[in-house]
Amino acid sequence: MAVLGIRLYGDPVLTRKTRPVLLPSERELVGELVRNLFAAMEAFGGVGLAANQAGVPLRVAVIRIPPKEGPGVQLVLVNPEIISGEGSQTGEEGCLSFPGLFLKIKRFNKVKVRSFNERGLPVEINADGFLARALQHEIDHLDGKVFTQRLSLLARLRLKPRLARLKKEWLR
Ligand SMILES: [Zn+2]
Repeated sequence: MAVLGIRLYGDPVLTRKTRPVLLPSERELVGELVRNLFAAMEAFGGVGLAANQAGVPLRVAVIRIPPKEGPGVQLVLVNPEIISGEGSQTGEEGCLSFPGLFLKIKRFNKVKVRSFNERGLPVEINADGFLARALQHEIDHLDGKVFTQRLSLLARLRLKPRLARLKKEWLR
């Protein structure tokens, strides 16, 4: 199986809202996409990957958190939505679409997510801490939002020159 490439910041697929998967008619397509997303995520060493980061504009994402970050969890998200969030946490995040960039981002501490799994069955996920952060990061991707957009306006302005330098490195 060929490993999908990861789209980097600047690629328009990252800033467009993805299309929901039609269930059950597109369920089989999801199975293959999910296997490819897990393979790409492993190859590039991330804990989450949204389909549009692999160039596929569908509302699908995967998360795999190794045991050292908590209890260890693997999730397939098909058409996920955050239905509620509470509290706040600020912590460092990275993103496979921004290699080498780590930013302190404020997120809800707890979220409730309604989604479908890879078999097309509805699931509800209640998460806090690191998993809640990963869910918010990936669902943002599916909404066409990247993590730099979660910074304050001032922090974004400050980041601009560094981001421009990083972009040049990625193109090399
Ligand atoms: Zn990301």
